[in-house]
Amino acid sequence: MTYNLDEIAQRYSKMDDERLEHIAKYDIADLMPEVQDIISKEIKKRGLNPGLENAIKLQSKQLSVEEIKNIASKIKKLPCPSCGGNDLNLEAGILRQVRSYGFLCEYDTNIFIACKSCINETRKKYLYLNLVLGWWSIQGLYYAPKAILLHFLDKNKTHLSDFLMLNFAELHLGEIVTNWQDEQKLVKFIRHQNNKIY
Ligand SMILES: [Zn+2]
Repeated sequence: MTYNLDEIAQRYSKMDDERLEHIAKYDIADLMPEVQDIISKEIKKRGLNPGLENAIKLQSKQLSVEEIKNIASKIKKLPCPSCGGNDLNLEAGILRQVRSYGFLCEYDTNIFIACKSCINETRKKYLYLNLVLGWWSIQGLYYAPKAILLHFLDKNKTHLSDFLMLNFAELHLGEIVTNWQDEQKLVKFIRHQNNKIY
């Protein structure tokens, strides 16, 4: 199968900035190197965030564990997205939410990144809400106790924070590398991800 690279370049040249940025941050690894190159050039031509080019470069290769750890350590040093404090390294915890609505039940989990005391406080809030709002459906009778049990088990899991932090870094690599120099944007992005469960 042959590809007409000029046609592909033309297609990307018509794409709006937002869509192009999204591809550079999230979908670039699935594209051929020639197409990655086209997107990189288009981003340069438009004068979009230069961090996008680094994001493309990093995602076009297999990252080493050290490289992912480096990205995670960047996150750890940011101010807390919840309280703004910056005297302690950020950690990652897991939030579990169970809500029963009549016959329906929703069970969601989310990685939550913040300082230790904000994580503890938020996890406690989720525990109480699961206790109050989780049980009232057939499935809730299964998921609510599960979430409550795991809430306590998570507490004793060593290295859970590091594991979740690496997971987050790998999942959002494109976004983090793009905004590497812009601490405020990174904090805003993490806050948005933290609140995704609501
Ligand atoms: Zn905090």
